[in-house]
Amino acid sequence: MKVYLETYGCQMNEYDSELVRSILTSHKHEFTPSLDHAEVVLLNTCAIREHAHEKIFYLLDHLKGRKRRQKGLVVGVLGCMAQSLRKEIIERAPHVDIVAGPDSYKRLPMLIEATRHHTEQAFDFSLSEFETYSDIAPQRVPGVNAWIAIMRGCDNFCTFCVVPYTRGRERSRELANIVLEAERVASEGFRQITLLGQNVNSYRNDEYDFADLMQAVSEVSGIARVRFTSPHPKDFPRKLLHAMAANPKLCKHIHLPLQAGSDGVLERMKRTYTRKEFLALVAEIRALMPEVSLTTDLICGFCGETDADFEQTLEVVREVGFDSAFTFKYSERKNTMASRQFPDDVPEEVKQERLLRLAELQKEITHERNVAELGKVYEVLVETPSKKDGNQWLGRTDHFKPVVFSGNVQAGDLVKVRIEAHGANTLMGAMVRDYRRTLRVYQEACCV
Ligand code: SF4
Repeated sequence: MKVYLETYGCQMNEYDSELVRSILTSHKHEFTPSLDHAEVVLLNTCAIREHAHEKIFYLLDHLKGRKRRQKGLVVGVLGCMAQSLRKEIIERAPHVDIVAGPDSYKRLPMLIEATRHHTEQAFDFSLSEFETYSDIAPQRVPGVNAWIAIMRGCDNFCTFCVVPYTRGRERSRELANIVLEAERVASEGFRQITLLGQNVNSYRNDEYDFADLMQAVSEVSGIARVRFTSPHPKDFPRKLLHAMAANPKLCKHIHLPLQAGSDGVLERMKRTYTRKEFLALVAEIRALMPEVSLTTDLICGFCGETDADFEQTLEVVREVGFDSAFTFKYSERKNTMASRQFPDDVPEEVKQERLLRLAELQKEITHERNVAELGKVYEVLVETPSKKDGNQWLGRTDHFKPVVFSGNVQAGDLVKVRIEAHGANTLMGAMVRDYRRTLRVYQEACCV
């Protein structure tokens, strides 16, 4: 059957869609980029933002009419929202044929068959303590970066988060199996690997920890860079920081989600670190890697957050000077601990005002940090032609900063670029001409 698959939400969902493609293709289904030509419509959903929920319900409404006109059309909702809001989906959109959570993808071919032949709905919400999909080779879009999920689920139970309920308990893949996948993506031409997990740095496989895994993946021939996302600040042992500092293939960028700067709010969020501990970690990271770039996630307006609490978040953001930040207003998610324990009591207009102040402060800091980049020369991994100007290229520094420049290069090249200007979020530069040639000569010499 012709399958149309649309993905919402985080990178883990994108990765899961690559798994779904692989599973369905091996069962002789084909994928189509056109919703109009599809016989099966699958929506791989996210449970993090309310806005995303409403978008899904809107699309399901639209598909109701289509199902009346197109006999046999199969509509399925997959992923985190399917797991966490299954009752609501079945009630609000009874025309949906398949509702399947993140651990049920291997059963999708069977679920499609069941709805197709028996014209009955098929639901699967079982969460597994073991499923890691390590036996499935994701069907990736060719490019420079390959995502590799090294673990699934989360045991942290931050009070605002649905992930432990939608993706189940934390379980890691075997190190040897991940290295095999890294070798495969290198042989397919990918130059960079980003290790992926909800709590990526708590990876554990027998005696191996996350530092061992990073080291092993960085040794795969053809891989120039290794990144990871998203870590938890509580899981940065010295061993990991030393490994990052010592190995040039391990990128000097850490996305370190702070969430809030007040100890009271951090405690209610159950983040398990204090403001002081977070700042001490930042100091340790910078002592070992002075050039590191730090980015973060911030939530404002969490339950019980006072003006004084919020001021403390602003203070920490100023003190750390993050390179960039994703800023969010707290929005209560059903079935989370926060929804059961704390009233969502910060008025909407206060949340909005705090969000604006936070975003404004981060904008100033990002501007200052971009100004400080002027004149520096960085090694840039070329990714794609620039969207704004097809004659230019977009690449990223080791620190994950996007750089636009001109040059006779191709995706996957490593080139040196001098930073000459900056926009709000992007650096602009000029290639240091002889560098790529020198690098090629060096690589050829190594091969000999
Ligand atoms: S660490 Fe916290 S925020 Fe991240 S996925 Fe786990 S519970 Fe959610």
